[in-house]
Formats: sequence, C-alpha cells, structure tokens
Amino acid sequence: MPRLLEGKTALILGVANRWSLAYAIAQAFAREGARLILTYQGDRQKLTVEELAAELKAHQTLACDVSQDDQLANLTSQLQSQGTVLNAVVHSIAFANREDLSRPFVETSRAGFALAQDVSAFSLVAVARATAPLMPPKDQGGGSIITLTYLGSTRVVENYNVMGVAKAALEAAMRYLASDLGASNIRVNAISAGAVKTASARGIRGFSKMLEGAAHLAPLRRNTDPAEVADAAVFLASDLGRGVTGNVLYVDAGMQIMGFAGLE
Ligand code: NAP
Repeated sequence: MPRLLEGKTALILGVANRWSLAYAIAQAFAREGARLILTYQGDRQKLTVEELAAELKAHQTLACDVSQDDQLANLTSQLQSQGTVLNAVVHSIAFANREDLSRPFVETSRAGFALAQDVSAFSLVAVARATAPLMPPKDQGGGSIITLTYLGSTRVVENYNVMGVAKAALEAAMRYLASDLGASNIRVNAISAGAVKTASARGIRGFSKMLEGAAHLAPLRRNTDPAEVADAAVFLASDLGRGVTGNVLYVDAGMQIMGFAGLE
C-alpha cells in the first residue's frame, strides 16, 4: 500500500520528549514515509531531540526558539541554502507562566498575558511567514501548516486561564493565515486535541482530575490517545486533506460536544 506522506518533507516544531504530541506526530509521519526535520528550542533540549531524531531516522535537527526573530530567519536561510522544499509544517508549541495557570484569571499579569500570546499564538504567524516561502508553488501542491489547540479556547476550562485566551488567538490567527496563504495552495488548520499528559499539561493545576473527568464525560468514555492526534495530522498533511483549510479538527473522543452531565 502506498504511504500517505511518501516523497514529502515535514518540519516539526515542538518535540520536547517522548510524551510530546509533536513526537507522536513525528512517529506517524515517519511511518507514512515523510522525511523529517525536527527543531529544538535551545541547547538544553538539543541532545534529547537529537536522540529522538536518530530513533525516528529524521533527516535533520535545527535550533529554533520561536520567540526570537533572528532564529526564525536563520531557520529559513538554513533550509533555503540547502534547497529544502517543505510540504508540511507542524507547530506544536505553547508556553505560559505556571502561576498564570493556577491563580484566578482576573489576576493575570500584563507580562504573563503577553508572553503566552507571543509564544503560543503569534509564533504561528511567525512560523508561517518563515516557512511558506519554502513550500512548493501552488501547481506543485502547495503545503500544509498544522497547529495544536485545545477546547479552552472557546469554553472556560478551570485553570487553563491565560492559555485559553492564547488558544483563541491561535485559532483566529490560523483562520487569517488560511485566508492569506490559500491563494498559494497552502492550507492552515488546527487540531484541537483532548487532554493528554505531557510536560506542558503538567503545568496546569488539577490536570490529573481534568483527565479523569474527561474520560468519564467524553462520548467515547476515554481519554485521547496521542496516536489519534498524530493520525489526524497525517490526514491534514497528506493529499487526502487537500480540500481542508481554516478548520479546527477536534480529536478529543468527542469531548467538545458535551454540556452539563448529571452527577452520579
Ligand atoms: P510539550 O511536549 O511540553 O510540547 C510543548 C513544546 O513547546 C515543547 O517542545 C517546548 O519546548 C515548546 N516550546 C515552548 N516555548 C518554545 C519556544 N519559545 N520556542 C520553541 N519551542 C518552544 O507539550 P504538548 O502537550 O505536546 O504540547 C504541544 C501543543 O499541543 C501545545 O500547543 C499544546 O497547547 C497543545 N495541546 C496539548 C494538549 C494536552 O493535553 N497535552 C491538548 C491540546 C493541545 P521546550 O520543552 O524545549 O521548552
């Protein structure tokens, strides 16, 4: 059977460790034949990402802190100088100060709000600008940009706070980018993943309870498997997703449809 991403090159930002959603996506992309380029934020993560990249037989690892314009420019020029053509880009990045994920939202500081917006939402715009010029022309397929979001963008989820507001901005940015880049046949979509225990998620106070609650309430009566999120990303990166742009695709065991459930 032909593999879905054979002959495609994918840049994946946001692998921190084996539990990262980006790592599950990288595994699925490798399974489907994609040539992988992974980024790491800084020297602290370099070794881990290089080890994971070796396991995945990734083509390359590159440094990129998305809050630094010079690093994004460097990423573009490095890829350009080696003649890399990108078919897919996965943006799997978010950050907020831990205290902003535990105190009441009304107490959010100006600096904490700006930081969450910069790293978690604006970075998608910056990454799209840095990578769209590396994608094939529209008659040769264009490209696919995928970001990761969460239900806290549209519903109030306890303790998600400043990150919920950043995810709302991220989803709006995704739609504006889809409109801008559509003429170049570059599709931009978000996957809204159900709660998964990762390093970032552990920063949210009461996250384990949230997982338990979601498993009880979700229509599928279980939590989300990172591999399910990864397979949705394969779909969006592949030619099967060629008609889909500007969309938030929920991969959350159905959690987003639920309202109030009676207490048992
Ligand atoms: P994760 O493994 O901690 O991944 C978050 C990544 O963001 C890490 O690789 C982190 O790098 C990176 N990052 C933070 N600041 C950065 C910067 N300035 N430059 C470059 N990279 C930076 O956690 P995850 O849960 O897989 O998160 C991935 C995405 O999925 C996030 O957008 C998250 O909001 C979203 N999501 C997660 C869940 C969930 O329940 N886990 C649900 C829905 C959506 P370092 O570790 O090197 O700092």
